[in-house]
Amino acid sequence: MSNVFDVIIVGAGPTGLTLANYLGMAGRHVLLVEANSATVGEPRAVSIDDESLRVMQDLGILDAVVSKTVAGYGTEYWSPARKSFLKVKPGGRTYGHPKRSAFRQPILEGQIREALDRFASVETRFSTRLSDIRTEDDGVVASLTDASGTVEVKGRYLIGADGGRSTVRQWLGTAMVGGSFDERWLIIDLEGALVPREDTVVYCDPKRPAIALPGPDNTLRYEFKLHPSEDEADLLTDISIADLLQRHDAPVEAKIVRRVVYRFHALIADCWGTGRIWLAGDAAHLTPPFAGQGMNSGIRDAIALGWRLDLILAGALGPGLMQSYQIEREDHVAQMIRLAVLVGKIMGPRNAVTAALTRIFFRSLRTWPRAHRYFAEMRYKPPPRFKRGFFVAGTSHRQGVGAMLPQPRLKDGTNRLLDDVLGRGFVLVGVDLRGQILEQIRLGEVWDNLPLHRKAIETSVVPELAYLSGKAVLLRPDRYVMAVFAPDDAQTCRDLGTLATTTWTDCVSGSPHGTPPLFG
Ligand SMILES: Cc1cc2nc3c(=O)[nH]c(=O)nc-3n(C[C@H](O)[C@H](O)[C@H](O)COP(=O)(O)OP(=O)(O)OC[C@H]3O[C@@H](n4cnc5c(N)ncnc54)[C@H](O)[C@@H]3O)c2cc1C
Repeated sequence: MSNVFDVIIVGAGPTGLTLANYLGMAGRHVLLVEANSATVGEPRAVSIDDESLRVMQDLGILDAVVSKTVAGYGTEYWSPARKSFLKVKPGGRTYGHPKRSAFRQPILEGQIREALDRFASVETRFSTRLSDIRTEDDGVVASLTDASGTVEVKGRYLIGADGGRSTVRQWLGTAMVGGSFDERWLIIDLEGALVPREDTVVYCDPKRPAIALPGPDNTLRYEFKLHPSEDEADLLTDISIADLLQRHDAPVEAKIVRRVVYRFHALIADCWGTGRIWLAGDAAHLTPPFAGQGMNSGIRDAIALGWRLDLILAGALGPGLMQSYQIEREDHVAQMIRLAVLVGKIMGPRNAVTAALTRIFFRSLRTWPRAHRYFAEMRYKPPPRFKRGFFVAGTSHRQGVGAMLPQPRLKDGTNRLLDDVLGRGFVLVGVDLRGQILEQIRLGEVWDNLPLHRKAIETSVVPELAYLSGKAVLLRPDRYVMAVFAPDDAQTCRDLGTLATTTWTDCVSGSPHGTPPLFG
């Protein structure tokens, strides 16, 4: 068989495209297959977060992506009487980017797809469906079917980024767990909508919960919740849609470009993969869109997989490292799903009593500034921090071990973002450490074989990192902190060596790493 790839990625949604870019940058031989003839046409996700923009920065396409976003929009929650009872406006740029920006998924996918043209080692095949999988000792053989028939290709790894109805997940025999959350929402996309505001409005009206989300280029998304007994065909008629839009302040000049009813679930795969086959994005977890996190979680998966696959394929670390992927990601994804379900309950109260209680709760918070700020500044979003995983757990969590490193701009007159100064990949950062001391730190034999570079920074230009002054910080390619230690802390250096050779527990479907989460 001549067709042998390092990685076969199934699905060219945002997850698969991001992973293909990461591996392309690493020079890996990748095949990306997509059943559709092009990237997605319908506007699905509308909210991209700071962590995803940091990934786009890492992939070298930040400027293009940001040029098509509206940065830092907020959300106003309205009572049925159209009175605002909560305004959420996330401020700050802890990770270098606005916490939430409006964007359009088809444009983003087009941009990430186009970025793949940079890599001769990445091949894409659209209108090509994965139809079967079989494993061999040294790889995975995928049967790919297109208009001209079926061919077999081999990959050392196969990643199922093939969405909610994942063929790869079915092949793995993995169950989706999480409970009974199941809601139908009518989505209407408008173009040419001159909206005099950039913030989302949520109509918290139990009679008809609704959301209006202005987007870039005069686009406007409406989402209307269907009641369980409602027939969606009744709601999709021209008369019904015109009535809904008119009652929710839609600009008359706007053109309807899409109307569709989606079913939203809150589910997570109990086993994200095994051996050479792994799941990512919607194939591994389904998040209702209310917190704008489904795609963002998929992009986080892509990066988490990308650097692991690269190290394993390079022979720098053993294949067991893949197990730490699910161990890290599943808790964080579960937190995001819980948040989405909770936000959905606030947005779509079931009855007048819960709606009134919700309003009373948020209004009363105004007398308690700290609690009010917690909601108003969107501090409730789970931070990028892992409970377990590929980091030296013994080191102090107060110093951010297991968490994403903040990304300030340098106060040295250049205004550069920290990552652009630190460089990509594993970095041993010396914070206020003399260059010579940093160079002398020995992390153990395993680390001598890993692609790691060293970089000294001064807190005089990044005062936000003053809490790390005098320390060495081992940073992963996904910008999570693996260890924080004093330069003479030999124990942590030994622990890092042990960590690199750790064997992680394998997971079997039906027996996940932790207790299956229940979302609703
Ligand atoms: C109305 C709506 C609003 C949303 N809003 C947000 C938001 O604001 N923010 C956010 O972060 N997320 C949001 N989401 C969720 C987001 O759209 C998804 O989480 C995201 O698209 C998942 O990306 P993915 O790449 O994992 O999967 P997908 O985008 O589903 O891509 C999977 C791809 O795999 C292909 N495929 C499937 N099977 C095969 C096969 N056998 N062979 C080859 N190819 C195959 C499919 O054709 C598809 O292109 C929203 C979703 C909806 C529906």
